[in-house]
Amino acid sequence: MATKILSYEEIIEQARSTWTGKTGDERAESVKKILDTRLENYHQITGISKDEILIAFEKARNVNTVNFYQESKFPLLENVHVFDTIEDYRKAFPSGKYICPKCEKESTDPYECSQEKCDWKVYGLFGDLGKGIKVIFKDKFLEHPVPMRIFKPVELVAVAS
Ligand SMILES: [Zn+2]
Repeated sequence: MATKILSYEEIIEQARSTWTGKTGDERAESVKKILDTRLENYHQITGISKDEILIAFEKARNVNTVNFYQESKFPLLENVHVFDTIEDYRKAFPSGKYICPKCEKESTDPYECSQEKCDWKVYGLFGDLGKGIKVIFKDKFLEHPVPMRIFKPVELVAVAS
């Protein structure tokens, strides 16, 4: 269930109100730090305004502010591949082939290895084993304001070797 969309100040005050005294202040400070650093970083990477990004965060929030605005849920956008649209992504990686991080063979699916004996999933517990890439589509970012992790497209492997 979606919760009420709060403003920047309301988010910080809600975090403060979850506990009394110093602990409340510390919670407010921690939430403020996440907001300040992520809004700036996500704005820099995507070019989308901080106001729009904050509303997108709030729309995605389904728990209280203290539990939602946590470092682990908002990775800093570093080494992400940014595309305006999925069409631009397809132009950049036209082969539709990816290297599976587990068996290191080609997969025709960016999330689940298409090799019969492998079946590795990028969204599983061990993710991409540090061998995939993170992508953002600017036109979809506000609907789902986190980078997507996928297997490495073969085009990037060819460039690296
Ligand atoms: Zn595989």
